[in-house]
Amino acid sequence: MLKLLSSSSRVQCLNTATPGLRVKPDSNSVFHALGRLTDLTRRSPKNSLFRACFCSDSSDSSGYQAAVEVEIKGAESELNGSESKASSAILPTYARPEDFLTVLALPLPHRPLFPGFYMPIYVKDPKLLAALQESRKRQAPYAGAFLLKDEPGTESSPSAETEKSVYDIKGKELFNRLHEVGTLAQISSIQGDQVILIGHRRLRITEMVSEDPLTVKVDHLKEKPYDKDDDVIKATSFEVISTLRDVLKTSSLWRDHVQTYSQHIGDFNFPRLADFGAAISGANKLQCQQVLEELDVHKRLQLTLELVKKEMEISKIQESIAKAIEEKISGEQRRYLLNEQLKAIKKELGLETDDKTALSAKFRERLEPNREKCPPHVLQVIEEELTKLQLLEASSSEFNVTRNYLDWLTVLPWGNYSDENFDVVWAQTILDEDHYGLTDVKERILEFIAVGKLRGTSQGKIICLSGPPGVGKTSIGRSIARALNRKFFRFSVGGLSDVAEIKGHRRTYIGAMPGKMVQCLKNVGTANPLVLIDEIDKLGRGYAGDPASALLELLDPEQNANFLDHYLDVPIDLSKVLFVCTANVVDNIPNPLLDRMEVIAIAGYITDEKMHIARDYLEKTARETCGVKPEQVEVTDEALLGLIENYCREAGVRNLQKHIEKIYRKIALRLVREGSSNEPVISEDVVQLHPAEAKAEVVDESDQHAAANKTGVEVESVGNSSHENTSEASVQVDTVQTNDQTKDSKEATHTEKLLEAEVTKAVEKVLVDTSNLADFVGKPLFHAERIYDQTPVGVVMGLAWTAMGGSTLYIETTQVEQGEGKGALHVTGQLGDVMKESAQIAHTLARAILLEKEPDNPFFANSKLHLHVPAGATPKDGPSAGCTMITSMLSLALKKPVRKDLAMTGEVTLTGRILPIGGVKEKTIAARRNGVKTIILPSANRRDYDELAPNVREGLDVHFVDDYTQIFNLALKSDDNNTGN
Ligand code: ADP
Repeated sequence: MLKLLSSSSRVQCLNTATPGLRVKPDSNSVFHALGRLTDLTRRSPKNSLFRACFCSDSSDSSGYQAAVEVEIKGAESELNGSESKASSAILPTYARPEDFLTVLALPLPHRPLFPGFYMPIYVKDPKLLAALQESRKRQAPYAGAFLLKDEPGTESSPSAETEKSVYDIKGKELFNRLHEVGTLAQISSIQGDQVILIGHRRLRITEMVSEDPLTVKVDHLKEKPYDKDDDVIKATSFEVISTLRDVLKTSSLWRDHVQTYSQHIGDFNFPRLADFGAAISGANKLQCQQVLEELDVHKRLQLTLELVKKEMEISKIQESIAKAIEEKISGEQRRYLLNEQLKAIKKELGLETDDKTALSAKFRERLEPNREKCPPHVLQVIEEELTKLQLLEASSSEFNVTRNYLDWLTVLPWGNYSDENFDVVWAQTILDEDHYGLTDVKERILEFIAVGKLRGTSQGKIICLSGPPGVGKTSIGRSIARALNRKFFRFSVGGLSDVAEIKGHRRTYIGAMPGKMVQCLKNVGTANPLVLIDEIDKLGRGYAGDPASALLELLDPEQNANFLDHYLDVPIDLSKVLFVCTANVVDNIPNPLLDRMEVIAIAGYITDEKMHIARDYLEKTARETCGVKPEQVEVTDEALLGLIENYCREAGVRNLQKHIEKIYRKIALRLVREGSSNEPVISEDVVQLHPAEAKAEVVDESDQHAAANKTGVEVESVGNSSHENTSEASVQVDTVQTNDQTKDSKEATHTEKLLEAEVTKAVEKVLVDTSNLADFVGKPLFHAERIYDQTPVGVVMGLAWTAMGGSTLYIETTQVEQGEGKGALHVTGQLGDVMKESAQIAHTLARAILLEKEPDNPFFANSKLHLHVPAGATPKDGPSAGCTMITSMLSLALKKPVRKDLAMTGEVTLTGRILPIGGVKEKTIAARRNGVKTIILPSANRRDYDELAPNVREGLDVHFVDDYTQIFNLALKSDDNNTGN
């Protein structure tokens, strides 16, 4: 230690400063260091920072510190009896430490003071403080520092007694509470109540001298003599040193001290090393006191070794704790950092989805305009879901489910109705504008509007439009929506087998969606749209649940005010929705559904109607879509009629529409082709013309075009003004030209018009008539349903009904062989069971009638007959061909052809009664289409026939019959039956 402190810098410091303790500390660094220590000591009296500080910093070369060290050195050298030579030169003149046999006793509450260490203490006892100051003044700045024993019965805790209470103990009591062995402490400085002590040597109290302040008599203690070369002592001390080095590696707490001392460890003697180790260890006060009291050097080293080993363990634990915490923190930090980066990236890409507040705000904002109209139960659910959204983790699947759910809930048009049109006249105009005929449908819609007007509100209804394809069921639906000023939504239920399509999925399923109706409301944005449910007769059969029943809940006006979609889970009011269904065959609609519908049948169109539709509607749209102008084309009535009769004979007009579009496409091509062959000439003409001249020409040429005239005049006036101003500046003319955009654009349109006029002029009008119709639409696919102009013997025209509308069909009978008892009937033509039975009945009845009319004619008894119904590829069934079959057989038997242009339909009983049939309208239309003049219908169908539009009935000779004999009379009896034309 002496060597350590006798560095040249210190000697220099000593030379410059006044030697000894009288030197006032003027170096900031010492105070700074002490201040820091005091601070630390005050802050945490429990921890190891309470340890005294060894004045070991060799770099801190203050003269004051050096002087103190020299003092110590002086004392030590004497004690140890060595190295006295080097120091004797600067020995001070005042009393030596060993001279102090009576000292003031300073109680230390926390730790004993080890020789060679600083210790700041706070003296709260004014008397003691005064005595200390006094002894400093008397140049005897020494006192005895003794560790205070714990109060008997209290826990050995340093905080049990505060510094204040330590100084409350006085006199004898204090004397008894002090440990016997203490340290001679030099009073280094006193600042306020802070006293800095420096430990010197061990003392033992022998007796009390005075009580207040406590003064005691002491013995100065020396270590027991020991062998410096003792291996055990050496080994122990090395172990202490290496342990201290290890502590240094892991703990930074005492790094400075250990570093300094391990560098100079060679300067240590063993007792000092033991003191040092104990002093810097975090051992408790009793363990430290034990080291202080131990005068056997080896034992002291061993005690110290225990303490530093413990310190080592503690620092290891400390290190592992620090490491674990650091890992945790750095892991969390990394995660946080990555999350933040992810958010930033998402935001940048516009994918920021988990911003809960923004989401909630969006939903609320969306709901706000509808809040008043929104039913309270829905509002409640929305609020609950919004709260839930805030509580959920943004990355959880539940969050997404809730978000989607809220999305649907808030997007629906709760109570948001479009203003309905209750103006009947206006509605009629719109309906007529879109469709020809269809009076039934239109009438029904007008009734609906009238009721709505009288009641002030409209009620949802189900209208079912049934009829063959292409008769305008879907398009009239759209037109009704327009007339009523409702939004239109169409969905087809053809082949639909999943109930979830109508009722929605439960939200718990992945990818769950609401049903079609909720999707519809979202789409249209109003709660009273017109919903067209297409192909309701082709509804599929569900394996789990019946779609028809689900549809029933949706459509039934009794139930749909509270329609519950599985996804939405809150009832929605569909009572204001107008449902229009379409079907080809009403019979295929499930009965409970049909029950609730108002069926309007659209049977199909007759030629006359088709002509109107083609002329007024289809041609117009086809022309517009093809960009052809009315004046560029003419389709003659004959051509149109030919088209309808030879190409498009079916009930609907879709095929007709396709053909007309085909014609117009071809016309467009022709126009463009011819137009382009003329183009070079036209463009040359136009290019050659100066704009002004061109305009002048237009003015001259097209007098009737007022607009063109006007433009010409305007341009002329611009030209004039510019001519007038030529002398002023050409710039002005430019300004007129550039600024006056309207004039410029007028000029441009004018040029375009001119161009167009030229093109139109160049191409001749395209005429479509019967002669060139085949050029546009090809050869007719079939000439007629009429195979025969005049039906031969055994052939009769019947009338049939199919999903495609009505049609005519022939029943043919021929004789296969003749012979006694050969009478039999063979049937072909893909007939169903009912029709086969009809044939049997007809055979029997025909035989009976023949027997009655010509009792001698054994035709049926002796003839094997073959009955066939073309076309053989089409399956047929139904009882309505009964009368036709009898007539056909009788015609063969009597060898009489039936009347020309006659068609019949009717079921026959075995007694010859004629029963009613269905599809009168379709059958009548089909008969008309095929040039039939006379129709025989069952009497029971008279009512149906009378309901037909006059134009359908016009020119038809209709006979209503009850019994087959009437038919016989009409078809076979009359004498004017002829075989020729
Ligand atoms: P459907 O639904 O009955 O199969 P669509 O409604 O699709 O038939 O009608 C086919 C086409 O025929 C549509 O372009 C429609 O405008 C036209 N159409 C049908 N009936 C009429 C009509 N009475 N007046 C005008 N166009 C009609």
